[in-house]
Amino acid sequence: SHHLLRIRYESTAAASDSSSNPPPEKYEYQAEVSRLMDLIVNSLYSNKEVFLRELISNASDALDKLRFLSVTEPELLKDAVDLDIRIQTDKDNGIVTITDTGIGMTREELVDCLGTIAQSGTAKFLKALKESKDSGGDSNLIGQFGVGFYSAFLVSERVEVSTKSPKSDKQYVWEGEANSSSYTIREETDPAKLVPRGTRLTLYLKRDDKGFAHPERVQKLVKNYSQFVSFPIYTWQEKG
Ligand code: ADP
Ligand code: MG
Repeated sequence: SHHLLRIRYESTAAASDSSSNPPPEKYEYQAEVSRLMDLIVNSLYSNKEVFLRELISNASDALDKLRFLSVTEPELLKDAVDLDIRIQTDKDNGIVTITDTGIGMTREELVDCLGTIAQSGTAKFLKALKESKDSGGDSNLIGQFGVGFYSAFLVSERVEVSTKSPKSDKQYVWEGEANSSSYTIREETDPAKLVPRGTRLTLYLKRDDKGFAHPERVQKLVKNYSQFVSFPIYTWQEKG
């Protein structure tokens, strides 16, 4: 069981206007996730750049899943054939976006994957943390086990995940903040952001971490990690 609290977000403005978009719904993280988020946000872990490796590896996993399924269901590829990862930076605003054309997530999968601890890496991390009586050990454990998706909060104050699964006809946006015990999910309605399939992560970097939005920095990190990724990773040069 996931111990999820589901609270309807009150928005009188939206409620009084039937033509407007449905309001975002607010969810509480599973207790273990809250604990993990606190640790990540408050840790003095200095090797923050691992966030990019974790997020690229998730994008690559999502592309692998799609490629595997498309062997028996080739129509999954119909709207967007290219399987790739794109990383864009906006250094003036301290924003990094990581886009993949992989399997995406349904609304249910967003709740299951990004609100609870189901996956092995982070579960091992928490187990090791329980066993380590040494409180100074937290930082090393982050690097040792990897904290997956939540590593985005090593460098971000806010994270948006806009995602479209071939199993769903709707695209959804998960939004979480570094110092919050809850996240929201809403339908993506901005036509400019609708995609045929896949996931786009938008990282709004913390003030001290905005350096990660410099294209040269990202390119250097990608170079280190991309050799293990079997899909093309595109980065952009900012216009001079
Ligand atoms: P792990 O990769 O070890 O499963 P993560 O915390 O990195 O753990 O990711 C949790 C889950 O969220 C993944 O298993 C996957 O189901 C989902 N997920 C994360 N990123 C993506 C993505 N880019 N596309 C599709 N699903 C994703
Ligand atoms: Mg992962």
